Amino acid sequence: MLIKKLDIRAKTPIAIIGDGCSALSLASKAASLPNHSINIFSSQNNEIKNDHVWGYWDMHWMNAVAPLTIKTWHKWIIQTSNSKTVMHSRHHPYKAVKRKNWMAHCKAIAQKHDVTFHTSLTKIDKLKCAQIFDSRPPKFRPGMMVQHFIGWEVQAPPGSFNQETAILMDFRCDQSRGVHFIYCLPFSDSKALIESTVFSTTIEPNSFYEAAITNWLSDCAGIQNFKVIKTEQGAIPLGFMERHDLKFNGIGSNCGAIRPSSGYAFSFIQKQISNAILQSSSTKKRLIFVNPHKKIDLLMDRIFLSVLRNQPKMAPKIFGCLANCLTGDEFANFLSGEAGIKLRLKIIAAMPLWPFVQALFKLEEIPK
Ligand SMILES: Cc1cc2nc3c(=O)[nH]c(=O)nc-3n(C[C@H](O)[C@H](O)[C@H](O)COP(=O)(O)OP(=O)(O)OC[C@H]3O[C@@H](n4cnc5c(N)ncnc54)[C@H](O)[C@@H]3O)c2cc1C
Repeated sequence: MLIKKLDIRAKTPIAIIGDGCSALSLASKAASLPNHSINIFSSQNNEIKNDHVWGYWDMHWMNAVAPLTIKTWHKWIIQTSNSKTVMHSRHHPYKAVKRKNWMAHCKAIAQKHDVTFHTSLTKIDKLKCAQIFDSRPPKFRPGMMVQHFIGWEVQAPPGSFNQETAILMDFRCDQSRGVHFIYCLPFSDSKALIESTVFSTTIEPNSFYEAAITNWLSDCAGIQNFKVIKTEQGAIPLGFMERHDLKFNGIGSNCGAIRPSSGYAFSFIQKQISNAILQSSSTKKRLIFVNPHKKIDLLMDRIFLSVLRNQPKMAPKIFGCLANCLTGDEFANFLSGEAGIKLRLKIIAAMPLWPFVQALFKLEEIPK
């Protein structure tokens, strides 16, 4: 016991403000940071009331998540009113994990490795931490594009869903409020998560998304008879944001982890943490979290977001072209930030030129 206490004291204390995805994901890696003692500070009761699903493409930095995944799809669909592309992936299937499962798993590992959880921020100064990382959300800018959605997990009669194939985007829904698509993750032939997702600057009333899900179930999936067993809801900012508090370095979405053009964050948070740990253990230096996206991806996303903001009606065509020109593995690599120059050129060549040229003149400012 005495040896254990001395051991903790010899370590450099670091603090994380917040106990969400990035904070607990880092805490679960405490064993890889033998020279640090990790302190998590959360002033809020962060019990997750509503669980939700994280979708991601399997990549090497996601190995720790794999045992907790609830479903894996090697096929997925991008559908518009006049095209349907079924994409196949050999190496990078799409996977789903429940937030509650991942958070509980991380917390259990963290506690085993002496991570300390504090319920008040006041002690943060007393601890004299060598580094403080802030995981509170970055500053939302009025007028920003937001990915807003409501999801229903539904139970329907057996045979209602094709559980082998996820539907990542189905644009056969009301396109009058912005870029709008249905996302459907079939967990079995009778159970699926169906989300109505909109990219725009204005959140819609709940009835809008709920009507979209009901209409899609009946008109596109042929399902009238279903029961809603769980719901989830979110609004993820799309674009470039300032840190929550410039005094502190960020981690997670407060360090640029949300992909500006897609809202995917979970995989990028794991990538950001893996890279920081690798860097600090190879150089024996301080932990440094950096934006996990390549500069070229951020530039492409900035142009892409400008197209989606100014010409939302082009979205079905653009995503249709993207799906048509890529294999499943290429699509997964591109959306996970792993595209090389050849893949990027392939994507650029497949896009309709004019909306992208126009978008170049309407790019959003990037906060310093
Ligand atoms: C319903 C839903 C579905 C999603 N689906 C996906 C998906 O399929 N794939 C994907 O990649 N991403 C998805 N995301 C996005 C992703 O979950 C989040 O972006 C991710 O949780 C961000 O992690 P984080 O650590 O940066 O922030 P969070 O997990 O939000 O943690 C922030 C922490 O800061 C604390 N905090 C906030 N404000 C304050 C304050 N003022 N004072 C003190 N503490 C504060 C919170 O209590 C929390 O502990 C989804 C998000 C939602 C909401």
